[in-house]
Parts: sequence; structure tokens; C-alpha cells
Amino acid sequence: MNNTNMSDKELLPCPLCGKNKGYSLSEGSTYRWWNMTCNGCGRIVDECSSDRRMTTGTPLPERCRNADEAWNDAGEYAESLRQQLAQQPSVDVLVDAERYRWLRERYVMANFDIYNAEKFEDGVSGIIFEMPEGITYSADINAVIDEAMTEAKPIEKDVK
Ligand SMILES: [Zn+2]
Repeated sequence: MNNTNMSDKELLPCPLCGKNKGYSLSEGSTYRWWNMTCNGCGRIVDECSSDRRMTTGTPLPERCRNADEAWNDAGEYAESLRQQLAQQPSVDVLVDAERYRWLRERYVMANFDIYNAEKFEDGVSGIIFEMPEGITYSADINAVIDEAMTEAKPIEKDVK
């Protein structure tokens, strides 16, 4: 079916609830204006100019071009914010990144190849960084790093 009908036009999600269930039309304050009610949350999102009918009470179309455009205008900014948020790293990733940056400033040696430690002269495997007196160690490396971050003094770097 070669259908260029306006009802095929892509509608953005509701700016208020984010659901993608489209709108329903109802008469607004006068027959010249229609309210667009979200089919997801039931709130009136915006209004649009009607088809300029001259009487009230006539059945309204399911979709119309004016309403599609007004709906998408209303939802455009919210949708752009949703897409930006979707690209943000999770809180877990941000916390890990903070740990890594903290550790990177302090580490002096790292060797994660623990199964081939004997080929290094000192045979040490692991990661070594600034530690307070009485080394804290645990199977939970995040907890160890977090504790070291809490107790450590700031790094003073040479400025070139
Ligand atoms: Zn909604």
C-alpha cells in the first residue's frame, strides 16, 4: 500500500510521561481548538488548531497534521533530553572512573599477569600505590581503594 497518509508520521513520546502511545483529540475551549491528551498518562499535553469546523459535537479524527506537528513540537525537547540521558554513563561507571583516576595519580607499579610472575625479577604481582600505615587488604578491591582514597593526602605534582 502506497500510503503517505499523515497518520503514518512518526510521533515522539509524550513529553510528560515518555510513553509512546500517541494522543487522543478532544474539543478544547472552542471548536477551533483541540486538546491533545496523551494516551499513556491521560494528561493534556498541548492544543492545536482544529480543522476549523463550525459546529461542536462532531466526531474528531484520530490524528491530524496540526496535532502531529504540535505534539512533536511539545515533545522535541523532552526527547532530546531523554536521548542525552541515555548516553550518560551509569553511576557505577562514574564511581569506577573516579577510582581509576585517583589510582592512576598514585600507582608506581602494576602487574596483573599473576600467572607469569616468576619471569619478573622480584616476583611481585599486583598493583602498588600510596598506602597509609598498616596496609588494608581485602578481596573487595573497590572497598580497599575507597578506604585509601578517604585516608590519603592529595598528590602534589611538579608543575612544568
Ligand atoms: Zn503522557
